[in-house]
Amino acid sequence: MIWIGLGTNQGDRVGYMVQAVQEIQKYGYHLCQLSSLYETAPWGIEDQPSLLNAVAILEKKEDPLVLLDDLLEIEKEMGRIRVQKWGPRIIDLDIIELQGEKWDHPRLKLPHPFAHTRSLDLAPMAELAPDYCLGKQEKTVQEWLKELPEQSFTLHQDTSWAQAQRTIRNRS
Ligand code: ATP
Ligand code: CA
Ligand code: CA
Repeated sequence: MIWIGLGTNQGDRVGYMVQAVQEIQKYGYHLCQLSSLYETAPWGIEDQPSLLNAVAILEKKEDPLVLLDDLLEIEKEMGRIRVQKWGPRIIDLDIIELQGEKWDHPRLKLPHPFAHTRSLDLAPMAELAPDYCLGKQEKTVQEWLKELPEQSFTLHQDTSWAQAQRTIRNRS
């Protein structure tokens, strides 16, 4: 499976998440599943607004560096400016996992090195595929999630996000 992680903690958070999903599709990527939205505690730097996060599953394998460049381009087009590592962001698009491939490229680490340590990735992944093993590790995403010291996430209900999920469900 190919997993993309989406996150935001600035401005019209739901609006940015919906826009990112639309942009990914405009770039020609086919999404076959989209998780619910999760409100999660800030990560990396604690003194910043909480995040909205979700994950999407891509239908087919893509060239990893092309996918990365497209995601970074979408972030840029949407107005993301990097000021501080792990700082506030209007949109963040990561590749969490690409069919168990292991990459240690200067621009791309796979699976995402922190995904198995944080609820912002694990909670939405566990919703879609609880038994999935990141990077072909032995533990499932649900097991990693349960072992976290803090379960700092809640579901965030929103009608425009539900609509985005329906559109993807109906298409696949
Ligand atoms: P984190 O990586 O901990 O989630 P972040 O998403 O805030 O932090 P960014 O500033 O968005 O970090 O990313 C910096 C760089 O990380 C990107 O320019 C990209 O080259 C690199 N990178 C390495 N591995 C990945 C990956 N799996 N997905 C996305 N970016 C990655
Ligand atoms: Ca990230
Ligand atoms: Ca990122």
